[in-house]
Amino acid sequence: MTDWRQRGACLSLNPDVFFSEGRPFREAKEACASCQVLIPCTFDALRVSGVGYQAGMSGVERDRVRRWDRQQRGLETGGRPRKAAS
Ligand code: SF4
Repeated sequence: MTDWRQRGACLSLNPDVFFSEGRPFREAKEACASCQVLIPCTFDALRVSGVGYQAGMSGVERDRVRRWDRQQRGLETGGRPRKAAS
């Protein structure tokens, strides 16, 4: 376990609040919103696919961010970066 994980606001919560797919993740959202390690947690959460709530995002939301990132970097457009929306 890396150091930033030791400082997560989620450490004091029941892990079930992060794994209740189909429910609003209210407690998890509140913890992530005030978490002092949200940034490193976000990098970690986007590195691998997973279920549950992490870094202020559900699994579906993380998949959307990954897809957006691949599109922005041209990895899903034949190597051409996408034009920024104006
Ligand atoms: S951002 Fe959320 S999931 Fe990540 S360490 Fe903080 S409370 Fe836990």
